[in-house]
Amino acid sequence: MMYDVLVVGAGFFGSIFAHQATKEGLSCAVIDKRSHIGGNCYTRNVRGIHVHEYGPHIFHTNSKKIWDFVNRFANFRQFTYSPVANYKDELYSLPFNMWTFHQLWGVTSPAEAMQKIEETRVKCDAPKTLEEYALSELGKDVYEKLIRGYTKKQWRKDPKDLPSFIIKRLPFRLTYDANYYHDKYCGIPDGGYTQIFEKLLQDIEVKLNTDFFENREYWEKSAKTIVYTGPIDAYFDYVYGELDYRTLEFKHVETEVENIQGVPVINYTSEDVPWTRTIEHKHFEKVKTDHTVLTYEKPVEWSKEKTPYYPINDDHNNSILAEYNKEVKKLSNVIFGGRLAKYQYYDMDQIVGSALVASKKFLANRSI
Ligand code: UDP
Repeated sequence: MMYDVLVVGAGFFGSIFAHQATKEGLSCAVIDKRSHIGGNCYTRNVRGIHVHEYGPHIFHTNSKKIWDFVNRFANFRQFTYSPVANYKDELYSLPFNMWTFHQLWGVTSPAEAMQKIEETRVKCDAPKTLEEYALSELGKDVYEKLIRGYTKKQWRKDPKDLPSFIIKRLPFRLTYDANYYHDKYCGIPDGGYTQIFEKLLQDIEVKLNTDFFENREYWEKSAKTIVYTGPIDAYFDYVYGELDYRTLEFKHVETEVENIQGVPVINYTSEDVPWTRTIEHKHFEKVKTDHTVLTYEKPVEWSKEKTPYYPINDDHNNSILAEYNKEVKKLSNVIFGGRLAKYQYYDMDQIVGSALVASKKFLANRSI
């Protein structure tokens, strides 16, 4: 055996696990099929602008322990996420708040806003679909302008065929508070995310452009314990079927212009525009440069050759997942962690928390 631990995937789960195990004196190696570390949190430095290569990453948590941990590897600047919605060049504040209702109807008080919602509401006693829920809670105007097109593009499905829980993530407030996240801590690392992974993986052997599945037997024999963070269905060679994921395409455009959109994220909520969001990365860290990078984010149809971003935890996929999880329980020397290996829509803080717990448990059991 070459190593105590082989980690497959250099995202948050794998990098933190390797870091913690190395600190305790274990020999670890990390492999990743991409040409860089950091997984989907990777940021690329384009002349001082840290480009969130795989979509905007805003770190938010209610856990002081998790916040303190990540702050050991970067200085996080306080950040309020308040995207703008563009519907056919009409601009609205997000998430739905008094500014949004003022922009939609000219109303100035919560009572007037509620009255407008009431007037446009399509009542439904037990809303099941996303469309029924949105129409009955927020009314036709909000639904038509801010929800229908965006949701249809993002999920590549009609909101009539989507479950309502998806939209319940989105806050709805009768106050002038346009802050998306209400967690105690919310920030963006000054200098980008990649430095966090560089520091976590300092002194650890990292092999990039290395696909576990291309040489599986070799890698399985290389360590006593494997920490696997790739897609769970791929690990088991799809024996119980393929899981579905949502996937995205990103087009990054560098321009010699100081400021294109004046805000980090604009959601394009009309169906006429093919992309769902544009991201102007310099605004996350308030970087001052004469150039900028704008990213177009577009959902595309999933196939297993593409990069998986979001699990789709509907009944069909969850029942396949349950079969794979039974297999996971039979394995004593493989630890599954992260969004893809758990097939759960975890935020970054949940991954950090779970990596700290899993590595602690592993290290404690090992020393018995
Ligand atoms: N959503 C919408 N309009 C928006 C933003 C979000 O209709 O401008 C809906 C959409 O269905 C989305 C859900 O609200 O899937 C949850 O939004 P969130 O921003 O949490 O989506 P994420 O990209 O994090 O999945």
